[in-house]
Amino acid sequence: MDYADDAQRTSNTLFTLWQKHRLKTAVDSSTDTSVKIDAPHYCECCGEEIPQARLLAVPTARYCCDCQKSLEKKSRNSSQFVAKYVYH
Ligand SMILES: [Zn+2]
Repeated sequence: MDYADDAQRTSNTLFTLWQKHRLKTAVDSSTDTSVKIDAPHYCECCGEEIPQARLLAVPTARYCCDCQKSLEKKSRNSSQFVAKYVYH
């Protein structure tokens, strides 16, 4: 009985199981993301639907491109505005 060889086989089996788990987890999380993006997202500022392309780039986007731009422009001028509209 070669114990070293047996240990090698055991670790190979564990590695294969771990890989299968990783693959399954990757598939599950990508499914979750597509579900989230499929649901319509509306801009919290103007109420327009946020474009899919923007959600793919920024899944947590709360504003449409136009509102995000104007918020960023305003936030440069007023830190109070950032505190009120961006962080709360
Ligand atoms: Zn908007």
